[in-house]
Amino acid sequence: MKQKSQLIIAGEEVEEDRLTDSMLRPKTLNEFVGQKKLKESLLISIKAAKERGEPIDHLLFSGAPGLGKTSLSYIIAREEGVNIKVTSGPALQRVADLAAILTNLEKNDILFIDEIHRLNRIIEEALYPVMEEFGLDLILGKGPGAKILRLNLSSFTLIGATTRPSLLSSPLRDRFGFFYQLNYYNLQEIEEIVKRSAYLLNIEIENEATKEIAIRARFTPRVANRFLKRVRDFAQVKKRKIDKDLVDEALSMFEIDNKGLTETDRRVLKMIIEKFNGGPVGLKNLSVTLNEDIFSLEDIYEPYLLQIGFLERTPRGRKATKEAYKYLGYEKGLF
Ligand code: ADP
Repeated sequence: MKQKSQLIIAGEEVEEDRLTDSMLRPKTLNEFVGQKKLKESLLISIKAAKERGEPIDHLLFSGAPGLGKTSLSYIIAREEGVNIKVTSGPALQRVADLAAILTNLEKNDILFIDEIHRLNRIIEEALYPVMEEFGLDLILGKGPGAKILRLNLSSFTLIGATTRPSLLSSPLRDRFGFFYQLNYYNLQEIEEIVKRSAYLLNIEIENEATKEIAIRARFTPRVANRFLKRVRDFAQVKKRKIDKDLVDEALSMFEIDNKGLTETDRRVLKMIIEKFNGGPVGLKNLSVTLNEDIFSLEDIYEPYLLQIGFLERTPRGRKATKEAYKYLGYEKGLF
């Protein structure tokens, strides 16, 4: 079972998000906070494609979970005035699944494939001619008598989202016209997102409390929104206003410390320091010793620990930094 702190910081969407997501998702590029360069470039591509009456080139968004890849895709569809169909790598098992989706797309529509690095080989290969010539090849029959039937599709834009661009094969990667990397947000941007969400959800919150949520939100909009909702519940039950102290209490209850570290983050660092003498240690080795799933380590914990400079990636594995030692109170005798 996942720990409570893991559930609250996990970047991926969970059931309860869906209820508020549609309210909080930015609807236009203007409402989408941060990622300035990416937005400027997207705006030009959208405008140019619109003027030509053509779909935008296929594009690939990469970045940690919860940074806004899905939101941006919806925004593009809206700005272009086209439909968007959403699916994911693991959901597409057979070419027939793909055919069913593709034949329902209208001219210039968008197909969003989340976790595109998890497509199986058959689907991936079927996508090559789709992306290049908007033609889907169906193989009819088996063996030497098999025939290829080509389905001609409407031209559309494929948007792929991935947390692991390195797992994409180069033939697939090369077929995208644009590659956009979403970065972690800075504190001011996360604060702005918390303020905006509080406004939309009709939550009264003091400025200091907004700041406190932002500090702990791991530079990730989805985590910030989730914290805000947990804090609201806490305030409602305790019949208190949302100030800095309340945020502190509420998030401590979920074992989130004032740097946004969870119990698992601290365990990862302590293990590297105590058991592996500070590292380097390979991720696999670490995952076995900690009894933690390697994907969570890679997707949730490691990126944030690298971002705040507590972990360092070396060719021989991960190392805990001086800052990590200091933060966890190990400084004596180690340096
Ligand atoms: P991803 O697809 O990268 O996992 P999402 O697009 O689903 O992330 O974003 C998660 C939630 O975070 C959205 O529902 C939205 O409320 C919020 N969000 C993400 N990026 C932004 C942003 N730049 N500005 C405002 N809210 C954002």
